[in-house]
Amino acid sequence: MSMLDRYNRKINYLRISVTDRCNLRCTYCMPADGVSLLSHNEVLSFEEIIVVVKEAVRLGIDKIRITGGEPLVRKGISSLVKMIAEVQGVRDLAMTTNGILLEKFAEDLADAGLQRVNVSLDTMSPQRFYEITRGGNISDVLKGIEAAKKAGLSPVKINCVVNNTPDEEDARAVAEYCHKNGLDIRYIHMMDLNAGKFSVVEGGDGGNCKTCNRLRLTANGKIMPCLFSDKEIDVRSLGAENAIKKAIEQKPECGSVNNDHHFYNIGG
Ligand code: SAM
Ligand code: SF4
Repeated sequence: MSMLDRYNRKINYLRISVTDRCNLRCTYCMPADGVSLLSHNEVLSFEEIIVVVKEAVRLGIDKIRITGGEPLVRKGISSLVKMIAEVQGVRDLAMTTNGILLEKFAEDLADAGLQRVNVSLDTMSPQRFYEITRGGNISDVLKGIEAAKKAGLSPVKINCVVNNTPDEEDARAVAEYCHKNGLDIRYIHMMDLNAGKFSVVEGGDGGNCKTCNRLRLTANGKIMPCLFSDKEIDVRSLGAENAIKKAIEQKPECGSVNNDHHFYNIGG
């Protein structure tokens, strides 16, 4: 089965945010003093996520990306990956991570059926990394990237947030590192959900409304038809099938603003 929305876009991609928690505090993503976090009861259990995945696949989703917050801080993440990988019809299973815990998890994730990974890295300077992430250690990420390659996760792509252009010093250094290490790079222009400031991902396919094939599932069980819209449909009250169908029906032709959400609780 395949799902077309009102604008004839084939919806086959689901991004799942598995937690709103993070072990970093990137300046462009989270406030310095942290955020009010979901309570345990609000967060979907693995079983609830699998119900949504199965229904989504039945309706035409074949591509899944696990994101966060930081997905690797969700307890038992490798088991969840395995549960998703075992759903018949999931053709492409990827994750976006900040890489801090990737050295520890890469092999388990690959064994569990994760195919590929995107690691976020905006600079090669340890000091700049520390500033941007408010406290992170870049060497953890670099070790994580190596571990991902060694575990056979492929391709390993780097998500690099730029202020204005890939020509900035930080981004150029990341590009050089990628070139030397056989990694793909995608440049994400810094966005502001609340101001409706968004743009296409260079080297990726996000941000282009005309070809947008995505739905998002938040950690607390809302299906979001568009990153740049406040619309959300609750899986727990409507059930997975109805919530997915409703989200597709309500997918806007083009994004505008999202006042109620942030990157860390949708997962980008
Ligand atoms: N914690 C993981 C990570 O950082 O990769 C996954 C979640 S994070 C919200 C997903 C992606 O969104 C990251 O590549 C991050 O750089 C990007 N991101 C966060 N805030 C952003 C913003 N304001 N504009 C553009 N990209 C942003
Ligand atoms: Fe955490 Fe990712 Fe947001 Fe950085 S971009 S604060 S790593 S969720």
